[in-house]
Amino acid sequence: MILLINTDLLVIGGGPAGMTAALKAAKRKAEVIIVERYHELGGQLTKQTHRFFGSKSEQAGTRGIDIARGLTKEIQNMSEIKVLTEATAQGYYEDKIVTVSYQNKFRKIRAKRIIIATGASEKMMLFENNDLPGVYGAGAIQTLMNLYGILPGKKVIMVGAGNIGLIVSYQLLQAGVEVKAVIEADSEIGGYLVHASKIRRTGVPIYTGHSVKSAIGESSVKGAEIIKLDENWQMITGTERFIKADTICLAVGLRPLVSLLIQADCAMVYVPELGGDVPIRDENLKTTNDQIFVAGDAAGIEEATAAMLEGEIAGLKAASEIGYLSEDVVEETRRLKRELKKLRGGPIGRKIRRGLSKVRGDDNVKKNRYSHLR
Ligand SMILES: Cc1cc2nc3c(=O)[nH]c(=O)nc-3n(C[C@H](O)[C@H](O)[C@H](O)COP(=O)(O)OP(=O)(O)OC[C@H]3O[C@@H](n4cnc5c(N)ncnc54)[C@H](O)[C@@H]3O)c2cc1C
Repeated sequence: MILLINTDLLVIGGGPAGMTAALKAAKRKAEVIIVERYHELGGQLTKQTHRFFGSKSEQAGTRGIDIARGLTKEIQNMSEIKVLTEATAQGYYEDKIVTVSYQNKFRKIRAKRIIIATGASEKMMLFENNDLPGVYGAGAIQTLMNLYGILPGKKVIMVGAGNIGLIVSYQLLQAGVEVKAVIEADSEIGGYLVHASKIRRTGVPIYTGHSVKSAIGESSVKGAEIIKLDENWQMITGTERFIKADTICLAVGLRPLVSLLIQADCAMVYVPELGGDVPIRDENLKTTNDQIFVAGDAAGIEEATAAMLEGEIAGLKAASEIGYLSEDVVEETRRLKRELKKLRGGPIGRKIRRGLSKVRGDDNVKKNRYSHLR
């Protein structure tokens, strides 16, 4: 027989969005369970040894790992929060039940409200031989180096000049790895110029308007053939060039992890600016399933600062809907929304603002296009 656990709020995913959501709700006295498939809380932050960019009020300047440690400590001190690590939410079923695999057994959790904060997965890139050993995602390289102290290789080609590609390149350089080049398909560098300048100062070339045509090697990567792209991102034959390397690192974007949202029949919409399919939600992060909220990268690829603010808004709103009302809810929610707006203001937030305009409002509400699969 499968054990059934009842709780006020179930938070799926223990990254920055899930942790702040749980804290905000628990501080209003809601009973919370966090399920996290990894062995510790923190999500992406557990790999982020660099000092954070983003909003000052949301811990810019602090290292990601230290933000994770601080939030984890706060959670450990809250008797209202129960944390299940190495626990994976597998499915959302009728009667509002989530099944979770934990300690080699299935548990059922029934919650009054659920916050899905499952983060994102890395995008893959198509090129010849992309399955050769030595081709990694940037997340895997960060995990190897920053969690386990293992170098992925000696000579790396980085693909992608967004913030992740630039930061991981710098971390590789700091670890003594030779970064042969950063390759970027776009005509411009996507990441902050401060990160790009740091890389350039070390002598690493950044080739914009280029891509990888093929990985070269028999049993493992020995190099890559890179090629120039035209303005439509088509390869220009005759511009191929070989770069010798033992590792190709792909930092070509993230995709929101939304399978549980799709399964729970939340209406979805495809928004390239937010990384792919995302759930339609209102300004409190409530999806079209009345029981379910979303927060963080699962709602659209952004940054940890935005994920933490979204988590707080969702946690606060979920607790009030369950019945844990407090006098300051309205003012506190307004403050958090103001912070988010500020964070997304200016030229850097333009893409996010454009993306968000597509996920709100009745005009955009489409039926879940995966419904037929259920
Ligand atoms: C190299 C790099 C550098 C970055 N630098 C910065 C920076 O300087 N500043 C900044 O603001 N942001 C930065 N970011 C972005 C930031 O890390 C993410 O936006 C943020 O971690 C998103 O938080 P999240 O809680 O939504 O998701 P995550 O941190 O991805 O956490 C999601 C959690 O959910 C868990 N999970 C997923 N599915 C399940 C399931 N079914 N059951 C149970 N658990 C599940 C995962 O194991 C994970 O722990 C960086 C990202 C990268 C990769």
